[in-house]
Amino acid sequence: MARKEILDQIQKYTRPFRITKGKGFQLKDFDPGDTRGLKLEKSEAADLLQRGTEWLAEEQDMLYAQNRWSLLLVFQAMDAAGKDSTIRHVMSGVNPQGCQVFSFKQPSSEDLDHDFMWRYASRFPERGKIGIFNRSYYEEVLVVRVHEEILKRQQLPLPLVSKRIWDERLADIAHIEDYLTRQGTIVLKFFLNVSRAEQKKRFMQRLERPEKNWKFSASDVRERKFWDDYMHAFEEAIQATASKHAPWYVVPADNKWFTRLVVAAAIVEAVEELDLAYPKVDAQKKKELELARAELAGGA
Ligand code: ATP
Ligand code: MG
Repeated sequence: MARKEILDQIQKYTRPFRITKGKGFQLKDFDPGDTRGLKLEKSEAADLLQRGTEWLAEEQDMLYAQNRWSLLLVFQAMDAAGKDSTIRHVMSGVNPQGCQVFSFKQPSSEDLDHDFMWRYASRFPERGKIGIFNRSYYEEVLVVRVHEEILKRQQLPLPLVSKRIWDERLADIAHIEDYLTRQGTIVLKFFLNVSRAEQKKRFMQRLERPEKNWKFSASDVRERKFWDDYMHAFEEAIQATASKHAPWYVVPADNKWFTRLVVAAAIVEAVEELDLAYPKVDAQKKKELELARAELAGGA
């Protein structure tokens, strides 16, 4: 199948989940268990994913060679939605040299002594590279919004802490993403949309299977109480920051194989749109290559 045809196929699995304008967006319209009617055996899904990751690896090689564009992939989700394993699978084929993964945890006191974007901005991807944010500046309008005691630790001047603070932060985030885009960074944002019931099942597995015990954290279970608050915060974040140039993907996450396919497809589609190619060799460079060839052939 030609690439063009594959892309057309792929779009069936990316377009339904891609949000490019926030107006009217509602989470309830998105089913975490959706697989677009696709029923695949484990091995078929793995095969398809492998083709996607190989394609991505080729594109990444050109991205790196050109050293102009960069890609920022933002992953946000409730716990156990599969952020880590999705990142691992989707990026499995790419050259580690061209990739930078950052996992953002609770901020340090140094982080808290700066504006909220500081620690993220210093990790925006270099030209030619794929930057992956496992959690991101969106935590500043998610966990910080759900637990306002975290906001209190951020040392903001009190007159600036008003009811409008979340709308203001969201506007700031949207602006930063505009800025990144204009600098040549492609921004893609993934919300892995797991259901509350599936999350419970996965927590249970963490408790029951010894090899998964290490992943279990009692505080994750406590966060379930705030589920609705999180969903509200996610919904408003997506409404305020979805755009054509920095789309959100609300990826169904109750079936891991489908999550991986949608994420891989979305990334492939976005880099494919850049129409990447290896840098052209100019006359001067060609001469250099000729000389080097002659030198090597002459026994150097
Ligand atoms: P894992 O899959 O290993 O559990 P994780 O991303 O959940 O990965 P944890 O160390 O379990 O990592 O949790 C990190 C915690 O840090 C999360 O609860 C998250 O909400 C919190 N966090 C991230 N960014 C911020 C922030 N800016 N302010 C406060 N808390 C934050
Ligand atoms: Mg965790």
